[in-house]
Amino acid sequence: MSTLIYWFRADLRLADNPALLQACADATHLLSVYCHLPSDKQPTRWGFERVGAPRQRFLTDTLRDLAKQLQARGSQLIECVGHPHEVLPALAQSIQASGVVCEDIAAPEEEAQVAALRAAGLTVDTVWQSSLLELSDLPFDGGDCPEVFTTFRQAVERARVLPASPLRAPTVFAPLPPAPEGLLARLASDARDRPQPDALPDARSSFPHHTQAFAGGETTAAAHIQRYFSTPRVSQYKATRNGLTGTDYSSKFSPWLATGALSARTAHAGLKRFEHIQGADDGTYWLWFELLWRDYFRLIQLKHGTDMYRARGLRDDAPAPTHNPKGFLRWCAGTTGEPLVDAGMRELRATGYLSNRLRQVVASYLIYDLHADWRAGAAWFESQLLDYDVYSNQGNWLYIAGRGTDPRGGRRFNPEKQTRDHDPHGHYRALWAST
Ligand code: FAD
Repeated sequence: MSTLIYWFRADLRLADNPALLQACADATHLLSVYCHLPSDKQPTRWGFERVGAPRQRFLTDTLRDLAKQLQARGSQLIECVGHPHEVLPALAQSIQASGVVCEDIAAPEEEAQVAALRAAGLTVDTVWQSSLLELSDLPFDGGDCPEVFTTFRQAVERARVLPASPLRAPTVFAPLPPAPEGLLARLASDARDRPQPDALPDARSSFPHHTQAFAGGETTAAAHIQRYFSTPRVSQYKATRNGLTGTDYSSKFSPWLATGALSARTAHAGLKRFEHIQGADDGTYWLWFELLWRDYFRLIQLKHGTDMYRARGLRDDAPAPTHNPKGFLRWCAGTTGEPLVDAGMRELRATGYLSNRLRQVVASYLIYDLHADWRAGAAWFESQLLDYDVYSNQGNWLYIAGRGTDPRGGRRFNPEKQTRDHDPHGHYRALWAST
């Protein structure tokens, strides 16, 4: 038994958080910490802020909710500004913590953060917990996912692998560790003094995170799950999921899943409750199917690691990507001259959210029509998306660019056809004709 630091990462919730439960069980004193990376505010190699204003705003709301919940349990969230390998060892020393517990994130930067902590002399216990399915339940070794999604899905379904039930939030938190006079108050004020993101509300948004119902945080996520499954919307999901406007055409789980305010198992438990009462149908099956895509991209990253970040991705025979800096800037600003693409890019920039259909269309346009580097597009999505998720973003971009696991070797979406199929009357283009 000892003093521990719980390092919150992309798991900003108390319920169904096995790593947090482990820390609560093992600690005599526990300090919960979140680190804001200095690089979030710095320009990427492509010339824009790594975390844009809407995403920052959503994160701020999420952290506020987490802090409130910890406070209600007699604990506290400490928000630090700095690299984990600088902040956490210093903090551990001042409170005499014996180690850090956190979730495992199998992406290169996140793995390097853990390696740097260990190199700084800290004991770090990582727990894999962001997938819907347990790695040990899979009908193949967790690090050896079938390359093709359909093969993966069929293997899971044939073996009847089902998600475990979500776990309850810890009821008891170990007391805060004794800390040097004023330390925790100073850290709290450093984080409070960070400039707050200036993200303006936009009533056209399909994910209006400025409203109470769509704000960041575990409390709102739980209310959304409750609301979503209290109507027959999910039964329509398969038919509506390629929609472009409004809050109801898809589940809108992703921003809460990406911040970890919602666990995939909790979302799935809501789906199962709905099926138990209303019966299973095409819509409910399709939501499960899409949640499997989320797991698939996690497993593909576990398997391929840093290769996912190469310019050629997983395809040694792919040509080196070309870039078109001017075209890329027009794409980001929504001024390419292709109306459907421009409307989508304006929505993304103004609100931090974009439908799956338009993510595919705009990504394809950047790669195959503007001949710009897919990595620049992925970085722009990282900066803008409220639901930025390292696995889903990298996996989907590689897939469309034909440098990932698409058996068809990449996908071009013809903008004229997409416009005819998905915006035949021009409502969406009219909605986003300007920013
Ligand atoms: P729904 O249609 O209701 O789907 C339910 C859930 O299934 C989603 O919340 C998500 O967790 C999962 N899901 C659905 N489609 C996919 C998919 N293609 N890949 C992985 N998971 C999926 N999703 C992210 O969460 N974060 C990202 O950073 C991200 N980047 C993307 C980049 C590109 C180029 C593309 C084409 C897709 C990307 N997606 C990403 C996947 C998908 O567009 C979003 O998950 C979805 O639009 C979120 O809205 P929703 O929750 O209403 O989805």
